Amino acid sequence: MLFGRRFKNEIQLPVKPVEKWVYTTCGYCSTGCSIEVGVNQAGKAVTARGVADADVNRGKLCLKGIYEYEVFESENRGTTPLLRKDRPDLFTETTWDEALNRTASEIGRIQALYGRDSFAIVSTGQIYTEEFYTLGKLARGVIRTNNYDGNTTLCMASAVSGYKRSFGSDGPPGCYDDFEHTGCLLAIGSNLPEQHPIIYYRLKEAYDRRRFPIIVVDPRVTMFAQMADIHLPIKPGTDLVLLNAMAHVILEEGLADQDYIKFHTNGFEAFGSLVAQYSPEMAEKVCGISAKMIRKVARIYGDAGAAMTIWTMGINQSTHGSDGVVAINNLNLITGNIGKPGGTSLSITGQCNAMGTREFSSCSGLPGYRLLENAEDRAFTSQFWGVEAHHFPEKRGLTETDIFPAIERGEIKGLWLIGTNPMTSMPDSTKIRKILNQLEFLVVQDAYANVETVESAHVYLPAALWGEKTGVFTNTERRVNVVRKVVEPPGDAKPDLWIFIELAKRFDRAKGMTFAESPAEVFDEMRSVSKGRLCDYSGMSYEKIEKNRGIQWPCNEQNINGSQRIYADGVFQFPDGKAKLIPLPFVENYEMPDEDYPFWLNTGRLVEHWHTRTKTGKIGNLNKFSPTPFMEINPKTAKKLGIQAMEFVRVISRRSSAIVLAQLTERVSEDAIFIPMHYYNCVNRLVKGELDPYSRQPAYKQSTVRIDKLMDQDEAEKSLLELRSY
Ligand code: SF4
Repeated sequence: MLFGRRFKNEIQLPVKPVEKWVYTTCGYCSTGCSIEVGVNQAGKAVTARGVADADVNRGKLCLKGIYEYEVFESENRGTTPLLRKDRPDLFTETTWDEALNRTASEIGRIQALYGRDSFAIVSTGQIYTEEFYTLGKLARGVIRTNNYDGNTTLCMASAVSGYKRSFGSDGPPGCYDDFEHTGCLLAIGSNLPEQHPIIYYRLKEAYDRRRFPIIVVDPRVTMFAQMADIHLPIKPGTDLVLLNAMAHVILEEGLADQDYIKFHTNGFEAFGSLVAQYSPEMAEKVCGISAKMIRKVARIYGDAGAAMTIWTMGINQSTHGSDGVVAINNLNLITGNIGKPGGTSLSITGQCNAMGTREFSSCSGLPGYRLLENAEDRAFTSQFWGVEAHHFPEKRGLTETDIFPAIERGEIKGLWLIGTNPMTSMPDSTKIRKILNQLEFLVVQDAYANVETVESAHVYLPAALWGEKTGVFTNTERRVNVVRKVVEPPGDAKPDLWIFIELAKRFDRAKGMTFAESPAEVFDEMRSVSKGRLCDYSGMSYEKIEKNRGIQWPCNEQNINGSQRIYADGVFQFPDGKAKLIPLPFVENYEMPDEDYPFWLNTGRLVEHWHTRTKTGKIGNLNKFSPTPFMEINPKTAKKLGIQAMEFVRVISRRSSAIVLAQLTERVSEDAIFIPMHYYNCVNRLVKGELDPYSRQPAYKQSTVRIDKLMDQDEAEKSLLELRSY
């Protein structure tokens, strides 16, 4: 027998004859990878590959992108509208006409009875920007409810709020190219290799060439923490104190950029007085990082020449989420690290088109980053849409996290859910089914007919999925990319754009308004509406975007191929052009471990799954990596509790309980556990989810739990199946 590489059989890839390759953009995370999907002679998607000359991913894809084409053939796709008619326990198939007529008449009935804000809409970060724009026109111009939000409140609201407070507008200033220029990268609450693997590859390529310091702040020893030069295992929820203390050291040791502060910021005095109180010694007591180490990282950051901070949910999903983002901006403003190569505050966005909803959906404002609070913006949009301006509210209504309590209080009677699954994704999720069942009318629009929320719906509208329609997404670095249609939607499923337009036609209030019917026509409208705005699309077209493999806004006559960075001139979006330095006192206001609930509960994503597994739970090549909910527990803690590896245990919080498998690892400290966020009836039953006062984003990562060993493992598995967490 001969062994060794030379004698191995050649790897045989299954033959998948491809007739054509269709250019498109990945529909999972906000990295924004360009994909080509291979379609065979029968019109079936059979394979996929990364686009080699796309700057974002340079030919690479992560697991989810590689297998994304399999969603087209996945189980439980909705193929026909469903309606509960005479028997409330029974859904029956119906026509689009009947489903949409019923939806429109129920919206009208509820609004006539209880007022226009008694009907709410919660959408997603997954549909195309043309669809967001049209939904905004429908929600604000036709349905006219102010209780309209996206599920992006659960992931990105704090970043949006923080950018607005510091810079006067939403919009990430930096880009992936900053990795090539930075002298120091600080990553807070971001496990980049698992959450955004291809951004991580970009960073790793730059790091391998230049070896600049990477500092990772995370309570857990994540994959990212393992590759960092310095890992700061911070106490949950105390990032603000660390950032204030870093600013303290930078100012005290003369490392700040005084010219930048003088010419481009306001509020230095109050900010300086506040951070003077946050000595590293004081911070050490709060966040558990030694004063010596805080001084060290502050000096590295302040001395770097160009330094950048990236973050994800570790910052955003906190009671101090918005303050955490402002604190990052403060740090970068005092060191002159905004808008220059390698110097930035770059929020790594979550969903593939969370940025698109921020730019054009009108959830929290009006399209093109216009504000409901601004009379000029209301007047412009009303004229552009053909709606009287007085129909627009003068400030935004409830966010998703406030909509559910308003349903519970009986203030909201009807709800439209679009591409979102709050029964799994909302904190304290056991309450959500009860709340949804209180509604007089619930319409669910989703690509899958077996999403948990459909069980409480009165009408189900089957939507086309990514790759079954054309439009654009915007990624983390403001890059707009085309998502081309690869295949036809199954059965009678329809693109979300079609559904919005058809619903608008059923309201008298839409008279006088024009709804563009094709994605390209909507895109043209978006180009006009955004002209001269920060998120200027006016210089883009689908063809140009595809040719460039994505274009970063603003793209206009001055920047014909887009702009890598914004605020390079130091001019911000406040009327005087200056950014704000904001003092941020820290108040400890979340659940803390105690005798009854002694462990921190941390939550997060896995590389193979996406959000509530609506899609990835049905892709065999992804689901088989993690089909069962589990928790990471430190081996010493497990020993104390008598828990063996791969045993089922019950995790209990003040809200509810969940059953998970125990995975023993030193990635978590002895006083903490980690459970992935993806499973139905699992970790979000436990999470308290207190809200950030500015962004209304829930704190998913600062709850406390106890752990019970389960003696009867067979019974535990049975319970898990009953909870349908698998
Ligand atoms: Fe898709 Fe994100 Fe993976 Fe890229 S990194 S292939 S965008 S899931």
